[in-house]
Amino acid sequence: MKAWRELYALLPRVIDFIPRATEGDGVDITRVLALVVVGKGACDAKNLPMLEELAKLLGGTIGCSRRVVESGLLPYTRQVGQTGRTVVPKLYIGVAVSGAVQHLVGMQGADKIIAINTDRQAPLVQIADYALIGDYLEIVPRLIKGLEERIKNFKGSKK
Ligand SMILES: Cc1cc2nc3c(=O)[nH]c(=O)nc-3n(C[C@H](O)[C@H](O)[C@H](O)COP(=O)(O)OP(=O)(O)OC[C@H]3O[C@@H](n4cnc5c(N)ncnc54)[C@H](O)[C@@H]3O)c2cc1C
Repeated sequence: MKAWRELYALLPRVIDFIPRATEGDGVDITRVLALVVVGKGACDAKNLPMLEELAKLLGGTIGCSRRVVESGLLPYTRQVGQTGRTVVPKLYIGVAVSGAVQHLVGMQGADKIIAINTDRQAPLVQIADYALIGDYLEIVPRLIKGLEERIKNFKGSKK
């Protein structure tokens, strides 16, 4: 009996179940080339379509920080970081993401990192390849307009 108990103590125990990457809304953020990541400062259902539009123009999708999952705006499968997904996109754009260490460990492998933040001292701004300092509500519409123009010009040059 004692031997059995000792053997049992050596067996691995299930301590938690983590949903598969494609569960939830069916999108696997670990496989996309461009990721627009929503932070707490941009956690607003009214403005989410604008961020989705930016992601779509870049051929990517939306991810988020844990605080956005906690708020209920996006599902856990979209969470980047230590207790979420590790992502390695070609382009990561953090929109109003502060860049807490638990977030950074999940995205530092991205090829190019862009931070949009009002706070130039935010950790994500410090490690970003490019930082756009200001209110995302002013910056993102300008990015979308610029991308739309470039796409239009590119299509025009192909005719
Ligand atoms: C055990 C543990 C595990 C964790 N795991 C994870 C994890 O996997 N992933 C994760 O993300 N977090 C994780 N966290 C939480 C983490 O510590 C942070 O709390 C979280 O990442 C912060 O999210 P945030 O950057 O969206 O929000 P905040 O830290 O609140 O940052 C919001 C940012 O938005 C900026 N901002 C506000 N308004 C605007 C605006 N109008 N325009 C532009 N910028 C604006 C602010 O300057 C600020 O930098 C974990 C924490 C613990 C303790």
